[in-house]
Amino acid sequence: MSTSQCLSRLAAHHRSDTEKQVPPGTVTLVGAGPGDPELLTVKAVKALEAARVVLYDHLVAPEVLAYLPHHAERIYVGKESSRHTLPQGEIIDLMICLARAGKSVLRLKGGDGYIFGRGGEEAQALAQAGIPFKVIPGLTAAQGAAASVGIPLTHRDHACALVLATGHLRDNKGLDMDWDMLARPRQTVVLYMGVNNLPEICRQLQAHGRGAGTPAALIENATTARERCITGTLGELPGLALRHQIRPPALVMIGEVVTVRQQLEHAGDAVSKPAAAVHAAA
Ligand code: SAH
Repeated sequence: MSTSQCLSRLAAHHRSDTEKQVPPGTVTLVGAGPGDPELLTVKAVKALEAARVVLYDHLVAPEVLAYLPHHAERIYVGKESSRHTLPQGEIIDLMICLARAGKSVLRLKGGDGYIFGRGGEEAQALAQAGIPFKVIPGLTAAQGAAASVGIPLTHRDHACALVLATGHLRDNKGLDMDWDMLARPRQTVVLYMGVNNLPEICRQLQAHGRGAGTPAALIENATTARERCITGTLGELPGLALRHQIRPPALVMIGEVVTVRQQLEHAGDAVSKPAAAVHAAA
């Protein structure tokens, strides 16, 4: 039986509770941070420890799930890039169905739910359905990666603006991005979900005026023991990604702030570097 069929059965089971006219449960949308469980907020840990039913995504680290009580019902809803175990609409339906059956639901997402996490869509659907909900923010991947690899996202000498953008457009309909804005100088651009479209992204940024020599970095599995950070230039980035076989989840960071890493990369070793992290320059 497919996950989707299993979940429909589960929803049907809980729907029978709905018919008993119980007051709806609360949904808590929790950001699980970038991977390292020590980067969870205190509020997130408290919500995890009190959870009964949990809907969680692919990007949520197993170490984060370890905070759940053993009796909590865990429902994996997937969401690897372009491979959703459960379509977004069904995730929302399931969440609403469980809440209407009186269950308190914990919706756990990687990073921060309101940053490329579809948390906004889920919150809108809950509001529309009249389900009470609250949101607990998480550290987004860019923040975790920046601290872990030693790249400050803004810096008075290098970048007075930070742009978080997605390199993967809805339904993969081609990259219709504001290239002039993304190619501006004195800013840091962090691309989420950008690995598969990296050659096109780098080509467009250069065509719109960002120099091929602009410092850039690829950070895979940031804040985990599998973290890798590869640095080079905008022109070199697609080749580096191929050579080092960079795979999602990974971030692309573009901007002069990447040069600061030379001074900072070893500074935090004693306290913050994951045990087996790999770091390389072009
Ligand atoms: N809500 C999440 C982002 C979800 S979009 C957040 O705030 O972080 C999924 C993308 O996030 C991945 O494709 C990747 O680009 C990025 N990402 C998430 N976790 C990451 C990690 N530990 N290391 C590098 N990139 C990560």
